Amino acid sequence: MKLMKLNVFTLGLIFIFLNGSNLFSQDIPKKLLAIFAHPDDEQTIAPLLVKLVEEEIEVTLVIATDGRLGVNEYTDYEAGDGLAEIRKQEMLCAAEVLGVNLIHLDYHDQLKAGEGFDGHIPHVQDLIFELKKIVKKIQPDAIITWGPDGATTHMDHRLVGASVTQIFVSQQWEKPIELFYFGIPSDLISDERAKTLRGQQRSYLTVQIPFNENHYDKAYQALLCHESQYPPRVVGKIKMDRKQLGKTIYLRQFMAPSQIRTSLF
Ligand SMILES: [Zn+2]
Repeated sequence: MKLMKLNVFTLGLIFIFLNGSNLFSQDIPKKLLAIFAHPDDEQTIAPLLVKLVEEEIEVTLVIATDGRLGVNEYTDYEAGDGLAEIRKQEMLCAAEVLGVNLIHLDYHDQLKAGEGFDGHIPHVQDLIFELKKIVKKIQPDAIITWGPDGATTHMDHRLVGASVTQIFVSQQWEKPIELFYFGIPSDLISDERAKTLRGQQRSYLTVQIPFNENHYDKAYQALLCHESQYPPRVVGKIKMDRKQLGKTIYLRQFMAPSQIRTSLF
């Protein structure tokens, strides 16, 4: 009888222990913070976002700028406050289709570069502090942003990626965070200039995440929300062109060597 009681007690402890460990590990969803520059930039990794949401990862998308200067040859919108407002609504629509939490900041498209040093620098510094607050609040397990290529060489892409990197390296984070940059393998790019502007040698892109046709379709359904940028026929073309990169999102992890050296050579 005593033995029996002990067994029940032990089993109870095991149950509590297992339950407890569930509560503090498996049951807590992993968190991804994706940080990009403009409304529609999320498209870069949208199939991955869809996949992660499906896997019950808590995905928060930060879009830094208002996209007020986003005029192109596909549509005839005028740059300014009106376009910024339209793009805010479009971004809400896309986030809803993707199933991600959205933080849409209202920094100016091109980060006030046109205002020179005195306009641009304080604007970017404010952005850095605001992004840092977001990282502290969300406490993500992983962050994805642009690398030095910014995919299109756009200065906002490169500055947002650089700002996130600066925040990441500026302190020891209580909870470990891993930082990843979106990348395109050079061998998948045919244009010679583009290989230099945005290609990456494949050996750097050690995180290669496959996605399926459903993730792909939903990603392009979300892109349809950005009507001020892409009419449906253009979305169709972009969707076709993207196929040449295959059903994989390539990422480069930011890592520091673990050993200290005392000489360069
Ligand atoms: Zn962009």
